[in-house]
Amino acid sequence: MRTKSNIFSILILGPVFIIPTLVVFLLVSSFQTEERHFKKSLQTLEMTIIEKNKKRILEKVNSTSDLISYEKSLIEQELHERIKQRVDDAKKIALNLYTQYHTSLSQQQLKRIIVDAIRPLVWNNGESFIWILDFNGVFYLAPDYLRHLEGHSIIDFKDATGREIIKEEIALCRSTGEGFLWDTFTKPEQDPNRQYEQLAYVTAFGHYDWYFGSGEYLDTAIKKTDRMLLKKISTISSQNNEHIFIMNHQGDILLHPLDPSLEGQNIHVSKHPHLAEFLPLFKALLKEKREEFISYEWQHPVSKEFEQKISYLKPTADTDWLIGAGFFKSDVSELIETEKKRLAIIKHKSRKEMLFFGLLLVLISLIVSLIISRWIRKQFIIYEDRIQTSTTALKKLNESLEDKVKERTLELEEANVLLEKLATIDGLTQVYNRYFFMQKIQEEVKRFYRYHSTFSLIMFDLDYFKHINDSYGHQKGDEILVTISRLIANTLRETDTLFRFGGEEFMVILPETALDKAYEIADRMRRLVEENDFGLESPTTISMGVVEFQDGDSVDSIISKADTLLYHSKDEGRNNISKMADKEL
Ligand code: GH3
Ligand code: MG
Ligand code: MG
Repeated sequence: MRTKSNIFSILILGPVFIIPTLVVFLLVSSFQTEERHFKKSLQTLEMTIIEKNKKRILEKVNSTSDLISYEKSLIEQELHERIKQRVDDAKKIALNLYTQYHTSLSQQQLKRIIVDAIRPLVWNNGESFIWILDFNGVFYLAPDYLRHLEGHSIIDFKDATGREIIKEEIALCRSTGEGFLWDTFTKPEQDPNRQYEQLAYVTAFGHYDWYFGSGEYLDTAIKKTDRMLLKKISTISSQNNEHIFIMNHQGDILLHPLDPSLEGQNIHVSKHPHLAEFLPLFKALLKEKREEFISYEWQHPVSKEFEQKISYLKPTADTDWLIGAGFFKSDVSELIETEKKRLAIIKHKSRKEMLFFGLLLVLISLIVSLIISRWIRKQFIIYEDRIQTSTTALKKLNESLEDKVKERTLELEEANVLLEKLATIDGLTQVYNRYFFMQKIQEEVKRFYRYHSTFSLIMFDLDYFKHINDSYGHQKGDEILVTISRLIANTLRETDTLFRFGGEEFMVILPETALDKAYEIADRMRRLVEENDFGLESPTTISMGVVEFQDGDSVDSIISKADTLLYHSKDEGRNNISKMADKEL
């Protein structure tokens, strides 16, 4: 019973404890996992942030490098557009003047007006200007520094490469009316023997055999673009002192927003305490077109202390520039602290959320487990009831079976008694039958041969019984048989036994009885019958044979002797007794 109630408690309380305990366990372990993650992320935070910064710097340098390459690629295109625009503008002015005055003024006057109107159009401190020549190479409008050549033909002018460029310009205007060409030319206020590469655009005027032209020196154009480019780059976001700095391969510092005083300086001659150290590295990077991170000490713009800085240096494609950008490690430390605080806040928040959801989960699991345990309990009770019912039914069945067995046993015993009786008792006379007689006589024979205890046998038969049956009916005959049996059985000694041997023949076994005694008893029996009133006209008699068992006799022989003696009595006239001595046997 105790084990049963224990199992019952486990079944019912099991889910209630196990499920919420499991949920709590999961919660605690997820708390621990989160804590571990938090600690690990704090440990790797510095490295991660430095790596992140490096990545950002790298991207910044790369995108700036791309921008520079792109902007540089635009130089020529812009140069073309710029020069053409200038020439077209000048030509427009000339055409307007022509339209306005060609009827009212002489050609010479008009040409003068046009030349004077266009002369002031100069750019890049007089480096770029509009020139007007006729197809014979005569200068109509020359720059100030060549004004002495106006009115003279420069058709045979050769540039530094020996090309007759005036002739080429005239040919271009004659053939297509306009066009670009690269050449070299002198610069104002420069050595007249040095020529600079320039892009020129020429276009025929149309009304006179003039052509207009203008040009710009490539180095000037590049410088101009570079200025614009550097300005653009310097405005690129420079958070956390991560400015882009640029120098060219000659060592000129082109851009240095962190320390603008360095801009324009050449690192070969700079007096800056640290710049000279980098010279070999810068040269190597530029020469090998190599890009890499470097770590060095540099003055922090805020603290003014020399602090560790990590920078990425990269030579830009198609230019001679080396660009770089970097960050101070101290700035990163601040970032790390901020990030740590941010992570702590996030952790705190997620802790709260986890706790809330965890408690909710515990509550839900508690409810679910209660439902489950109630269900189990119900099932258990149903199961127990079923077992109870089955047990009771089995008990009842068992009891009824036992009753039935008892009843049957009793019946069987009664039947056995009856059977035994039937087997040994004669149905009509209620004395022992022939079957039982055979058993008894065999026992007596055995006893005789074992103990020499003698016994006698009486055999008797009703006289003229056939006649009685015939005269009074069979039933009367039966009655007489029953009456004789009772009469004789009643007179017998306790040790003597009467048997119905068959029909109206009977036997009496007389143990321990010698012949004479047996004869005496037989005679008493004979008289008892003779003297009894059976209600017939004449008395009913019996004839008898009496024999004592002799050594050498057997069951068969003694029966045979008795039978012979009986028939002897019949022969003698009936109602007689013959004993063994009476006849010579
Ligand atoms: P005996 O004097 O020579 O013995 O002549 P008996 O007529 O008695 O002998 P028998 O053997 O000729 O006839 C025997 C008769 O006994 C024949 C039979 O009908 C009758 N009997 C045998 N058993 C029964 C019985 O159980 N009931 C009745 N009513 N008659 C019986
Ligand atoms: Mg007979
Ligand atoms: Mg007879």
